[in-house]
Formats: sequence, structure tokens, C-alpha cells
Amino acid sequence: MMDEEDLILEQYELLWQYQQVDMELDRYEKEMRSNPNRRELLKHREFLLEQQGVLKKIETDVEIMCDRIEALADEITRLNGAAAEAAANFEANRPEDLEEARKQIASIQKLIATISRYEAELAKMRKDSEARDRQQREVRVRAAKARAEFDRIKVIYDEEFKAASVKLEELKAKVAKEAKGIDAEILEKYKTIKRQTTPPMTRIHDDRCGGCNMQLPAADMNMIRTGAAYVMCENCGRIILVK
Ligand SMILES: [Zn+2]
Repeated sequence: MMDEEDLILEQYELLWQYQQVDMELDRYEKEMRSNPNRRELLKHREFLLEQQGVLKKIETDVEIMCDRIEALADEITRLNGAAAEAAANFEANRPEDLEEARKQIASIQKLIATISRYEAELAKMRKDSEARDRQQREVRVRAAKARAEFDRIKVIYDEEFKAASVKLEELKAKVAKEAKGIDAEILEKYKTIKRQTTPPMTRIHDDRCGGCNMQLPAADMNMIRTGAAYVMCENCGRIILVK
């Protein structure tokens, strides 16, 4: 008949076996994540998102420019009308004195100067807008190239992923199989430690923790001498198997 200590020892030996396949699964998942094509895809996706952002910014800029161009064109039309009207008025009703004539001419000249300034601004605005259009086309071409490359790699990666997933599922099944027979509480303890440090389980090594290499305290050494199957490392929190 097995006594308590033997049962515990058996549980932790099972847990040790479990850890072997669990670590194998972790390594494989890590390997899948570091697949070069997967990395390339992520890089291209990031680039595409970036380009989308650039395009959005350009579109907003162009919208603002278009509004400004329209407003400027309207204002120029209005000012041209006002200048023509002032000139016609000057012709029709010749001012009586020189002072009045000068005042009217100055006013017309001021209108013409404003029109010239607005026209220069409008021309610059149109040029900027064209530059933005060109930039937009360039970004679109770049994005399309990246998209094509993304699609090309995606086809390859999907195949790789499909093949890798088969092995991944096999490993997961293996891990689930190894978990059978292990007390739920012990397994939960293992998983809790794993969130902090991995692998969560180690063996004793020259009276030291095999995980962090810390010398075990006297109290733990006493427990080991009296037949404990395992001790917990005070330093790294790992389960230290004694045998
Ligand atoms: Zn340790």
C-alpha cells in the first residue's frame, strides 16, 4: 500500500512529465510566432495601416484646400464685380473735384491690389493641392505594392500555418493527456507559478534551486531529510523536486 508521501511523490513526478510536454508546446507556439513569413506579414500590415493614415491626412488637407480655393475664387469674383462697378461709376459720374477723383481711384486701386493678392494666394493653393494629389497617387502606388506583397506572402503563410496547426493540435492533445491523473489543485498551482516564472518546476541541484540557483534554507533541507517530495523555492517560487 502507498503511503501519503509516495502519493505526493507520484503526483509531482506526473507533473514533471506534464511539464516536459507543456514546455514542448510552449516552444512550438513560440516558434510559430517567430515564423519569418508571419513577421513579414505583420510588417506589411503595419506599413499599410500607416499609409492609410497618411492618405486620410492628405484627404483632410485637400478638403480644407478645396474649401479655401472655392472661397477665394468666390471672393475674387465678388471683388472683380466691385472694381468694375466702381470703374463704371467713375466713368458715368465724373467726380467734381480732384480730391474726390483721387479718393475713388485709390479705392479702385486698393480693390485691384486685393484681387492680385488673392489671385496669387489662389495660384499657390492650386499648386499645393496638385502637389498633394501627386503625393496621394504615390502613396496609393506604394500601398498597392505592399498590399500585393502582403497577399503573396499570405498565401504561403496560410499553408505553413495550416501545417503547423496540425502539429500544434497534436501537442495540445499530448498536454491534455499528460494532465490526466494529476490532481486539479496541483495543476492549478503549476499554472499559477507559470504566469510568474517558467518552467515552473525544477529539480534540486547541489542543495540549490535548479531554477534560480539559490541555496536552499536549512528549514527546506530539514524537510528534504525527513522525506519531503518537493519544496518551494523562496526566491523564484518554483516547485523544486527533490528526487
Ligand atoms: Zn529558485
